[in-house]
Amino acid sequence: MVSFKPTAPEIGGMQDRTHAAAVEPGQSVTVAGWAHELRDLGGIAFLILRDRSGKIQVKFAKDELDDAIVETGTDLTRESVVSVTGEAEAEERAPTGVEVVPEAIEVLAAAEPELPLDPSGKVEAELPTRLDNRTLDVRGEETKAIFEIRAEALRAIREFLREAGATEITTPKIVATGTEGGTELFPITYFGREAFMNQSPQLFKQLMVASGLERVCEIGPIFRAEEHNTPRHLNEATSIDFESAFIDHHEAMDVCEGTLRAAYEAVAANCEAELETLGFEDFAVPDEEFPRLTYEEAIEQVNATGELDEQLVWGDDLSTEAEHALGEAIEGHYFVTDWPSEIKPFYIQDYAEDPEVSKGFDLMHPRMELVSGGQREHRYEPLVEGFERQGLDPEAFDYYTKTFKYGMPPHAGWAYGAERLVMSMLGLANIREAVLFPRDRQRLSP
Ligand code: ATP
Ligand code: MG
Repeated sequence: MVSFKPTAPEIGGMQDRTHAAAVEPGQSVTVAGWAHELRDLGGIAFLILRDRSGKIQVKFAKDELDDAIVETGTDLTRESVVSVTGEAEAEERAPTGVEVVPEAIEVLAAAEPELPLDPSGKVEAELPTRLDNRTLDVRGEETKAIFEIRAEALRAIREFLREAGATEITTPKIVATGTEGGTELFPITYFGREAFMNQSPQLFKQLMVASGLERVCEIGPIFRAEEHNTPRHLNEATSIDFESAFIDHHEAMDVCEGTLRAAYEAVAANCEAELETLGFEDFAVPDEEFPRLTYEEAIEQVNATGELDEQLVWGDDLSTEAEHALGEAIEGHYFVTDWPSEIKPFYIQDYAEDPEVSKGFDLMHPRMELVSGGQREHRYEPLVEGFERQGLDPEAFDYYTKTFKYGMPPHAGWAYGAERLVMSMLGLANIREAVLFPRDRQRLSP
């Protein structure tokens, strides 16, 4: 059963509805929800009615009830929406120890007898079928639990960032230029002009650091025309962004780590039933501080595992195999800092004493990258040089670069994939499980 614990009074309360999980013996109640299960044993029939709070049994003792009520109850198709008014009685054989004896029953919306998916999960469905019929799929306890947990994790992160002094902003998703390079851009036509779906709020959040806001965050969509379909890439993902003036990359990592811990703690504290539904006996909140390895230490460690066919050298990106080898050695979250400048974007600052090394970092889960961040380049001249080194035309980014001439404070920040967080937190095999309506190379609908 899923723990729905509203703290605000019920809104609407159609027909003064009582939630299934709140029904107690001795009450007169109206319950409403979906026909989860129907069992006709001859002289007696049972309906298990499900709503977001849980389930409740309705008993049809055929010779004690009006024929019309019995007929409606026994003719129901599974997943029809019904409302039942009656007396609640204790019954130890009922799944929740209580059942409703109906005095009235109304079918609010009948469901077709053949459904493409069985929400009770008794008949398992492949992921594509589930995604094609997401409404029915989310009626299933496990899928619903994932999205309740996702909502709780995002709530905790939003609150943590607000308490850390960030102002939540919303930046444009239709833009004139990309952020992360050309190949992953989705072009669109904007009143006859070429435009793109935004790959990241990176440049906009930096502009807001230069405004008086200083410290900002955003939770919103990013769009990436990824080259391949993989289990951890979406073409529309949710990015959690943070950016702050007057902090360095290590302080940005502190905030990042705090955010992740806040999400785990909130889920552990407030989603017990959902975790149980998903089969967690013991949901571990990371307790140790995350180690911070430099890129140089990271490649040394990977090479020492002997897992790779070819040794990594300075300048190589960490491949998926390298990430897995390191993840297995470390067995927990860790940061990789001080990456080679050449494999980090133009907006990351390099060390003045060693320009080959950048102040960029990634937060890694043993199975995948979760976050990328860094100290940003806030000085105009080196920023423009960075553009040129990366083969980008600084003039096209004039709206961005000019701000650096008007007083840009030193700043740092990061971006976090919400679906990667949920996927890694719950050990999901595919990132598509962590988003309601995934967009991938094949999937554009629903
Ligand atoms: P990867 O190397 O795993 O493809 P990236 O380095 O290209 O990721 P960034 O540009 O650093 O991604 O984006 C910051 C974060 O946003 C990533 O660490 C990840 O959590 C998330 N993210 C990026 N691209 C995607 C995507 N296509 N689908 C889901 N999440 C993504
Ligand atoms: Mg990255």
